[in-house]
Amino acid sequence: MKNKIIEVKRLTKKYKNESKYALNHINLSINQGSIFGLLGPNGAGKSTFINILAGLVNKDSGIVKVCGIDLDNDPKTLRGNLGIVPQEIIIDPFFTPIEIMDIQAGMYAVKKEENINSRILENLDLGNKANAYARSLSGGMKRRLMVAKAMVHRPPILILDEPTAGVDVELRSKLWESIKKLNNEGTTIILTTHYLKEAELLCDEIAVINHGKVIAKDTKNNLLKILDEKEIRIEFAEKVRSLPKKIQKFCVKKKNNSVILKYKKSQTNTAELIKELSNTNLGLKDISTKESDLEDIFIKLLKN
Ligand code: ADP
Repeated sequence: MKNKIIEVKRLTKKYKNESKYALNHINLSINQGSIFGLLGPNGAGKSTFINILAGLVNKDSGIVKVCGIDLDNDPKTLRGNLGIVPQEIIIDPFFTPIEIMDIQAGMYAVKKEENINSRILENLDLGNKANAYARSLSGGMKRRLMVAKAMVHRPPILILDEPTAGVDVELRSKLWESIKKLNNEGTTIILTTHYLKEAELLCDEIAVINHGKVIAKDTKNNLLKILDEKEIRIEFAEKVRSLPKKIQKFCVKKKNNSVILKYKKSQTNTAELIKELSNTNLGLKDISTKESDLEDIFIKLLKN
């Protein structure tokens, strides 16, 4: 069985003067070594969860354990196990990346002989910028510097709040690479995101929260299996007037030369459908398929 690096039981938070729970008795456990995605719409409770771990918000009740340490017993040691990358970039433009890292290391009382700041910058592809002024860094580099800053005390867990919000496509993939690299080296990653493709690409475990409750938690692959639906669109050379009987029940749209079929992957074999269609005199021209993605599942979960 995998080691649980974070365990949360019946965690509850209601802000002062608010009628609704921000977190309503949630249970969550996160496996060591995973890339864990916390998904949910705005106001779901994601930041509240992270801020409780970070010590910025006090919980009302419930148990929070990180690396076996209980938040109620030893919050300081617990926080030493976390590196937190907030959404907004907080970097003093008048310092160089290595100076920024060394100041941060000082705040965490990292011993001189344990200071690996240059290596962390190298790992995040900022080695050649170590002595440049932070104000001269691009947006993507500044974000990677935020990640580097969170790693100065070598925490086993890195938490990223919306890591690629407002980051353009190219820089996004560079940041993903850095996150994967840290994970490959053994760091457990927790990230919140609105961007479902990001979760689909990066995460191996996912929890969806809504209105302060966990509404789904599973491996990404299992979540993707929830919607057992497949859609194919077929273009014919001829106008489609009728379809073989076996096919008719799957047809959700028929227009001019094309049809869209929807079916359950577990019950219907795609190759057989296509064989059936190629036996018609319509002349198959093109076939495209669409599998359900995390976005479809997310919408379905929130609807329910
Ligand atoms: P998310 O990060 O998923 O967008 P939040 O944790 O920020 O969600 O918010 C959860 C709920 O708690 C929302 O209803 C939000 O309005 C409320 N909330 C968050 N922070 C505060 C606060 N400081 N004071 C009062 N209510 C808050």
